[in-house]
Amino acid sequence: MEDLGTPVLDNHLHLDPANGRGIDAVRDFRRLGGTHLLVVNKPSWHLGVEAEAGEDFRAVFEETLSVVADADAELPGRAWPVLGVHPGLITRLTDERGFSPGEARDLMRAGLDAAAEYVREGDALALKSGRPHYEVSDAVWDASNDVLKHALSLGAELDCAVQLHTEATDDLTEVAEWADERGLDPENVVKHYAGGTLAGPTPSVMSEKDRLRTAAEEGAPFLMETDFVDDPDRPGAVMGPKTVPRRVRWLLEEGEDDAVENAHVETPRRVYGVDTRETLSR
Ligand SMILES: [Zn+2]
Repeated sequence: MEDLGTPVLDNHLHLDPANGRGIDAVRDFRRLGGTHLLVVNKPSWHLGVEAEAGEDFRAVFEETLSVVADADAELPGRAWPVLGVHPGLITRLTDERGFSPGEARDLMRAGLDAAAEYVREGDALALKSGRPHYEVSDAVWDASNDVLKHALSLGAELDCAVQLHTEATDDLTEVAEWADERGLDPENVVKHYAGGTLAGPTPSVMSEKDRLRTAAEEGAPFLMETDFVDDPDRPGAVMGPKTVPRRVRWLLEEGEDDAVENAHVETPRRVYGVDTRETLSR
Protein backbone atom coordinates (compact mmCIF):
# COMPACT_ATOMS: atom_id res chain seq x y z
CA MET A 1 0.00 0.00 0.00
CA GLU A 2 1.64 3.20 -1.19
CA ASP A 3 1.54 6.29 1.04
CA LEU A 4 2.22 9.49 -0.88
CA GLY A 5 2.08 11.58 2.29
CA THR A 6 -0.85 13.62 1.01
CA PRO A 7 -4.55 13.18 0.34
CA VAL A 8 -5.05 12.07 -3.29
CA LEU A 9 -8.45 12.85 -4.85
CA ASP A 10 -9.76 11.73 -8.23
CA ASN A 11 -12.41 14.39 -8.84
CA HIS A 12 -14.40 12.56 -11.52
CA LEU A 13 -14.74 8.88 -12.28
CA HIS A 14 -17.47 6.28 -12.73
CA LEU A 15 -17.84 2.85 -11.15
CA ASP A 16 -19.98 0.08 -12.62
CA PRO A 17 -19.83 -2.98 -10.35
CA ALA A 18 -22.39 -4.85 -12.49
CA ASN A 19 -20.60 -4.59 -15.85
CA GLY A 20 -17.14 -3.16 -15.14
CA ARG A 21 -14.43 -3.48 -12.51
CA GLY A 22 -16.28 -1.70 -9.70
CA ILE A 23 -14.53 -2.02 -6.36
CA ASP A 24 -11.45 -3.65 -7.94
CA ALA A 25 -10.79 -0.30 -9.59
CA VAL A 26 -11.04 1.39 -6.18
CA ARG A 27 -8.51 -1.09 -4.76
CA ASP A 28 -6.10 -0.29 -7.62
CA PHE A 29 -6.53 3.42 -6.88
CA ARG A 30 -5.86 2.85 -3.20
CA ARG A 31 -2.86 0.57 -3.72
CA LEU A 32 -1.06 3.35 -5.61
CA GLY A 33 -1.77 5.90 -2.87
CA GLY A 34 -5.24 7.20 -3.75
CA THR A 35 -7.36 8.28 -0.79
CA HIS A 36 -10.53 10.12 -1.91
CA LEU A 37 -12.96 9.77 -4.81
CA LEU A 38 -15.81 11.73 -6.35
CA VAL A 39 -17.95 9.14 -8.12
CA VAL A 40 -20.31 10.41 -10.82
CA ASN A 41 -23.35 8.40 -11.88
CA LYS A 42 -23.11 6.81 -15.30
CA PRO A 43 -25.38 8.15 -18.08
CA SER A 44 -28.88 6.80 -17.36
CA TRP A 45 -29.28 4.95 -20.67
CA HIS A 46 -25.96 3.11 -20.14
CA LEU A 47 -27.68 1.45 -17.18
CA GLY A 48 -30.75 0.61 -19.24
CA VAL A 49 -32.87 3.37 -17.68
CA GLU A 50 -35.02 5.16 -20.28
CA ALA A 51 -36.47 7.83 -18.02
CA GLU A 52 -39.98 9.16 -18.61
CA ALA A 53 -40.09 11.32 -15.49
CA GLY A 54 -37.60 12.90 -13.10
CA GLU A 55 -38.23 10.25 -10.47
CA ASP A 56 -37.07 7.54 -12.92
CA PHE A 57 -33.50 8.80 -12.53
CA ARG A 58 -33.56 7.66 -8.91
CA ALA A 59 -32.73 4.08 -9.99
CA VAL A 60 -29.50 5.42 -11.53
CA PHE A 61 -28.67 7.53 -8.46
CA GLU A 62 -29.35 4.67 -6.04
CA GLU A 63 -26.83 2.47 -7.90
CA THR A 64 -24.21 5.18 -7.50
CA LEU A 65 -24.94 5.61 -3.80
CA SER A 66 -24.57 1.89 -3.30
CA VAL A 67 -21.17 1.60 -4.99
CA VAL A 68 -19.97 4.77 -3.27
CA ALA A 69 -20.77 3.21 0.11
CA ASP A 70 -18.61 0.21 -0.84
CA ALA A 71 -15.81 2.46 -2.14
CA ASP A 72 -15.97 4.56 1.01
CA ALA A 73 -15.33 1.45 3.09
CA GLU A 74 -12.24 0.58 1.00
CA LEU A 75 -10.52 3.95 1.20
CA PRO A 76 -8.39 5.53 3.91
CA GLY A 77 -10.28 8.76 3.05
CA ARG A 78 -13.78 9.15 1.68
CA ALA A 79 -15.80 8.51 -1.48
CA TRP A 80 -18.59 10.97 -2.28
CA PRO A 81 -21.38 10.78 -4.89
CA VAL A 82 -21.94 13.41 -7.57
CA LEU A 83 -25.37 13.05 -9.14
CA GLY A 84 -26.97 14.51 -12.24
CA VAL A 85 -28.12 14.11 -15.80
CA HIS A 86 -25.64 13.57 -18.61
CA PRO A 87 -26.00 16.32 -21.26
CA GLY A 88 -25.79 13.74 -24.07
CA LEU A 89 -29.21 12.49 -23.00
CA ILE A 90 -30.81 15.33 -24.95
CA THR A 91 -29.64 13.79 -28.24
CA ARG A 92 -30.90 10.37 -27.27
CA LEU A 93 -34.28 11.88 -26.36
CA THR A 94 -34.67 14.05 -29.46
CA ASP A 95 -33.11 11.72 -32.07
CA GLU A 96 -34.25 8.32 -30.84
CA ARG A 97 -37.22 8.77 -28.55
CA GLY A 98 -39.25 11.43 -30.33
CA PHE A 99 -38.94 14.19 -27.72
CA SER A 100 -39.00 17.84 -28.80
CA PRO A 101 -36.06 19.85 -27.43
CA GLY A 102 -38.47 21.50 -24.97
CA GLU A 103 -39.77 18.16 -23.71
CA ALA A 104 -36.23 16.85 -23.35
CA ARG A 105 -35.28 20.00 -21.42
CA ASP A 106 -38.19 19.52 -19.01
CA LEU A 107 -37.35 15.85 -18.36
CA MET A 108 -33.67 16.63 -17.79
CA ARG A 109 -34.51 19.48 -15.42
CA ALA A 110 -36.81 17.11 -13.52
CA GLY A 111 -33.94 14.61 -13.30
CA LEU A 112 -31.75 17.31 -11.80
CA ASP A 113 -34.50 18.12 -9.30
CA ALA A 114 -34.42 14.46 -8.24
CA ALA A 115 -30.60 14.59 -7.90
CA ALA A 116 -30.92 17.78 -5.84
CA GLU A 117 -33.05 15.92 -3.30
CA TYR A 118 -30.07 13.69 -2.50
CA VAL A 119 -27.85 16.73 -1.98
CA ARG A 120 -30.52 18.30 0.21
CA GLU A 121 -30.66 15.15 2.35
CA GLY A 122 -26.86 15.10 2.65
CA ASP A 123 -26.56 11.87 0.62
CA ALA A 124 -24.70 13.44 -2.32
CA LEU A 125 -21.95 16.06 -2.38
CA ALA A 126 -22.56 17.86 -5.68
CA LEU A 127 -24.60 18.01 -8.89
CA LYS A 128 -23.59 17.17 -12.44
CA SER A 129 -24.90 18.84 -15.62
CA GLY A 130 -23.57 20.46 -18.78
CA ARG A 131 -24.17 20.70 -22.49
CA PRO A 132 -23.18 18.64 -25.55
CA HIS A 133 -19.50 18.65 -26.57
CA TYR A 134 -20.53 17.99 -30.18
CA GLU A 135 -22.41 19.97 -32.84
CA VAL A 136 -26.18 20.24 -32.24
CA SER A 137 -29.07 22.32 -33.63
CA ASP A 138 -29.74 25.76 -32.17
CA ALA A 139 -32.92 24.47 -30.54
CA VAL A 140 -31.04 21.63 -28.81
CA TRP A 141 -28.21 23.98 -27.80
CA ASP A 142 -30.65 26.47 -26.26
CA ALA A 143 -32.53 23.71 -24.44
CA SER A 144 -29.20 22.33 -23.15
CA ASN A 145 -28.19 25.73 -21.83
CA ASP A 146 -31.56 25.99 -20.06
CA VAL A 147 -30.84 22.65 -18.36
CA LEU A 148 -27.34 23.83 -17.39
CA LYS A 149 -28.75 27.07 -15.96
CA HIS A 150 -31.26 25.09 -13.94
CA ALA A 151 -28.39 23.09 -12.42
CA LEU A 152 -26.65 26.35 -11.51
CA SER A 153 -29.86 27.59 -9.81
CA LEU A 154 -30.09 24.36 -7.82
CA GLY A 155 -26.43 24.67 -6.84
CA ALA A 156 -27.11 28.20 -5.56
CA GLU A 157 -30.21 27.08 -3.67
CA LEU A 158 -28.43 24.10 -2.06
CA ASP A 159 -25.06 25.81 -1.69
CA CYS A 160 -23.36 22.92 -3.48
CA ALA A 161 -20.89 22.60 -6.33
CA VAL A 162 -21.95 21.78 -9.89
CA GLN A 163 -19.72 19.70 -12.15
CA LEU A 164 -20.16 20.42 -15.86
CA HIS A 165 -19.55 18.38 -18.98
CA THR A 166 -19.10 20.88 -21.85
CA GLU A 167 -17.44 21.40 -25.20
CA ALA A 168 -13.63 21.49 -25.12
CA THR A 169 -12.67 25.08 -24.30
CA ASP A 170 -10.42 27.11 -22.03
CA ASP A 171 -12.98 29.90 -21.65
CA LEU A 172 -16.29 29.42 -19.85
CA THR A 173 -16.64 32.99 -18.57
CA GLU A 174 -20.19 33.14 -19.92
CA VAL A 175 -21.18 30.14 -17.78
CA ALA A 176 -19.41 31.75 -14.80
CA GLU A 177 -21.61 34.83 -15.33
CA TRP A 178 -24.74 32.67 -15.41
CA ALA A 179 -23.66 31.15 -12.09
CA ASP A 180 -22.97 34.56 -10.59
CA GLU A 181 -26.38 35.89 -11.71
CA ARG A 182 -28.03 32.99 -9.87
CA GLY A 183 -26.05 33.43 -6.68
CA LEU A 184 -23.62 30.56 -7.17
CA ASP A 185 -19.93 31.42 -6.82
CA PRO A 186 -18.28 30.49 -10.17
CA GLU A 187 -15.54 28.84 -8.13
CA ASN A 188 -18.14 26.21 -7.15
CA VAL A 189 -18.69 25.40 -10.82
CA VAL A 190 -16.27 22.73 -12.05
CA LYS A 191 -15.51 21.95 -15.66
CA HIS A 192 -14.72 18.27 -15.86
CA TYR A 193 -12.33 16.97 -18.56
CA ALA A 194 -10.52 20.33 -18.51
CA GLY A 195 -7.16 21.44 -19.85
CA GLY A 196 -4.52 22.95 -17.57
CA THR A 197 -6.05 26.42 -17.57
CA LEU A 198 -9.60 27.76 -17.68
CA ALA A 199 -11.21 31.20 -17.55
CA GLY A 200 -14.34 31.20 -15.38
CA PRO A 201 -15.12 28.01 -13.43
CA THR A 202 -12.65 25.73 -11.64
CA PRO A 203 -10.91 23.26 -13.98
CA SER A 204 -10.91 19.54 -13.17
CA VAL A 205 -7.80 18.73 -15.16
CA MET A 206 -7.44 15.47 -17.07
CA SER A 207 -4.36 13.85 -15.58
CA GLU A 208 -2.01 14.06 -18.55
CA LYS A 209 1.46 15.40 -17.80
CA ASP A 210 1.20 18.36 -20.22
CA ARG A 211 -2.11 19.55 -18.80
CA LEU A 212 -0.89 19.13 -15.22
CA ARG A 213 2.34 20.99 -15.92
CA THR A 214 0.28 23.92 -17.25
CA ALA A 215 -2.01 23.86 -14.20
CA ALA A 216 0.97 23.73 -11.83
CA GLU A 217 2.62 26.68 -13.58
CA GLU A 218 -0.62 28.65 -13.57
CA GLY A 219 -0.96 28.23 -9.80
CA ALA A 220 -4.75 28.83 -9.93
CA PRO A 221 -7.15 26.49 -8.11
CA PHE A 222 -7.56 23.16 -9.93
CA LEU A 223 -8.57 19.55 -9.39
CA MET A 224 -7.35 16.31 -10.98
CA GLU A 225 -9.40 13.54 -12.59
CA THR A 226 -9.34 10.52 -14.88
CA ASP A 227 -12.95 10.24 -16.08
CA PHE A 228 -12.46 6.47 -15.75
CA VAL A 229 -15.69 5.10 -17.27
CA ASP A 230 -15.44 1.50 -16.01
CA ASP A 231 -16.88 0.18 -19.25
CA PRO A 232 -15.52 -3.20 -20.43
CA ASP A 233 -16.57 -2.32 -24.02
CA ARG A 234 -14.33 0.74 -24.01
CA PRO A 235 -11.16 -0.42 -22.22
CA GLY A 236 -8.83 2.11 -23.81
CA ALA A 237 -11.33 4.97 -23.92
CA VAL A 238 -10.02 6.75 -20.85
CA MET A 239 -7.40 6.77 -18.16
CA GLY A 240 -7.33 3.98 -15.62
CA PRO A 241 -8.02 4.40 -11.90
CA LYS A 242 -4.29 4.35 -11.01
CA THR A 243 -3.55 7.49 -13.01
CA VAL A 244 -4.19 10.23 -10.42
CA PRO A 245 -1.97 8.68 -7.70
CA ARG A 246 0.73 8.02 -10.32
CA ARG A 247 0.63 11.64 -11.48
CA VAL A 248 0.69 12.90 -7.89
CA ARG A 249 3.83 10.86 -7.30
CA TRP A 250 5.32 12.38 -10.46
CA LEU A 251 4.38 15.94 -9.42
CA LEU A 252 6.03 15.39 -6.04
CA GLU A 253 9.18 14.06 -7.74
CA GLU A 254 9.17 17.23 -9.87
CA GLY A 255 9.07 19.35 -6.72
CA GLU A 256 5.49 20.49 -7.39
CA ASP A 257 4.37 20.08 -3.77
CA ASP A 258 2.34 23.29 -3.92
CA ALA A 259 0.37 22.04 -6.92
CA VAL A 260 -0.42 18.79 -5.10
CA GLU A 261 -1.61 20.72 -2.03
CA ASN A 262 -3.68 22.93 -4.34
CA ALA A 263 -5.43 20.09 -6.21
CA HIS A 264 -5.92 17.66 -3.33
CA VAL A 265 -6.44 19.82 -0.23
CA GLU A 266 -7.08 23.52 -0.93
CA THR A 267 -9.31 23.37 -4.00
CA PRO A 268 -11.50 20.51 -2.69
CA ARG A 269 -12.06 22.65 0.42
CA ARG A 270 -12.90 25.80 -1.60
CA VAL A 271 -15.14 24.05 -4.11
CA TYR A 272 -16.91 21.34 -2.08
CA GLY A 273 -16.25 22.38 1.52
CA VAL A 274 -14.59 19.04 2.24
CA ASP A 275 -11.45 18.55 4.32
CA THR A 276 -9.44 15.79 2.64
CA ARG A 277 -6.79 15.83 5.36
CA GLU A 278 -9.23 15.71 8.27
CA THR A 279 -11.12 12.81 6.65
CA LEU A 280 -7.96 10.76 6.15
CA SER A 281 -7.36 7.62 8.22
CA ARG A 282 -10.59 7.83 10.13
ZN1 LIG B 1 -17.48 11.14 -16.77
